[in-house]
Amino acid sequence: MGLIVQKYGGTSVASLDKIKWVAGHVIRTKEKGNDVLVVVSAMAGETDKLVKLSLQLMDPPDERELDVVTSSGEQVSSGLLAMSIKALGHDALSLQGHQVRIVTDNAHSKAKIVRIDAERIKKALGKGKIVVVAGFQGVDEEGNVTTLGRGGSDLTAVALSAALNADSCELYKDDVDGIYTSDPGLVPAARKLDKISYEEMLELASLGSKVLQARAVEFAMKFGVTLHVRPTTKPDTEGTWVVEEEKMTQLENILISGVSSDKNQAKITITQVPDSPGIAAKIFTPLSESGIIVDMIVQNVSIEGHTDITFTVPRTDFKKSIILTEKVAKQLGAKNIISDDKIAKVSLVGVGMKTHSGVASRMFSTLAKEGINILMISTSEIKISCVVEEKYTELAVRALHDAFELGETK
Ligand code: ASP
Ligand code: MG
Repeated sequence: MGLIVQKYGGTSVASLDKIKWVAGHVIRTKEKGNDVLVVVSAMAGETDKLVKLSLQLMDPPDERELDVVTSSGEQVSSGLLAMSIKALGHDALSLQGHQVRIVTDNAHSKAKIVRIDAERIKKALGKGKIVVVAGFQGVDEEGNVTTLGRGGSDLTAVALSAALNADSCELYKDDVDGIYTSDPGLVPAARKLDKISYEEMLELASLGSKVLQARAVEFAMKFGVTLHVRPTTKPDTEGTWVVEEEKMTQLENILISGVSSDKNQAKITITQVPDSPGIAAKIFTPLSESGIIVDMIVQNVSIEGHTDITFTVPRTDFKKSIILTEKVAKQLGAKNIISDDKIAKVSLVGVGMKTHSGVASRMFSTLAKEGINILMISTSEIKISCVVEEKYTELAVRALHDAFELGETK
């Protein structure tokens, strides 16, 4: 008994049959005596389709209107699921982000949640209704529709779990049955993890593992929401728990939890920038003001008062970044700009790195053995990332998974 939040991803609601199945599972959960709050994504492929439609009219698209278009996917799936539950004789209520209200800032397509008004949900749950909330959507203070970034339904589920102090937050996936040591589609030997820490999950999510949205994990970590990633098709099996590091057992034996790759990467080099105070600020401020997340930054040793600066941005922001960078480069009197969007980032993640040495050297020698050239390197306490040519992504991930023996059960 308690309040259970269940989030269903796009593949879990990809067809009417699947929606009916979800409705049945939701009802079973309710009949066990729980209050149930469901969060849904758009039906699989729908958001991509809506983005593509918009891009045909305007590229880059008007961000306010893009949110109006993309948020519609979740409106459809939430209505269909509520209808399906009602058709089975149970009371349900669908709510859009603005009806809840999930109030966000006005950073369209990547809005941050400012506060959640949970009264309407509480009232409906109190009346015994199953509440179905459209994921991914919010509303700004002026009443404009916003969206929470790709994969944002995860964030909706986590944020509602925190706001309502839910007893559990279950994230149902149709394509995977938990968090794996690597993408099983890429590495057949990948193994499902029983538990993973927020920190590791956050790194993996930021690094391109699409199982959970990075912002959702960050939010869960901040508010202590324990997550359970579970397979829709096998609702009684355990998936992967995302928990605090302290709650993980046998942690010391685990050096690396996963290898991930991210092809949504591009790099830009500004050559021969005059090397004086304030230069980096001038280059990166316009990018950050446009909401572009710069990841790795490398500045070379300066020669005769000039230096080269290389940085990476999401490939989806590549065009916008080049335009902005060309502008500052001209102002600064830099020589030119070299860019490459055929790159990928391959990363190793594990809390064991905090206390063990030798991970980096093993990673580099593994890549060297495969003849893969490393273009950039960055590290954090629990992560090492290498930028490589995109064509080597799969080879690099498999070789590293192998070298760190991640497929074997400990
Ligand atoms: N439908 C949105 C997307 O595809 C949000 C989500 O699925 O969580 O990114
Ligand atoms: Mg999704």
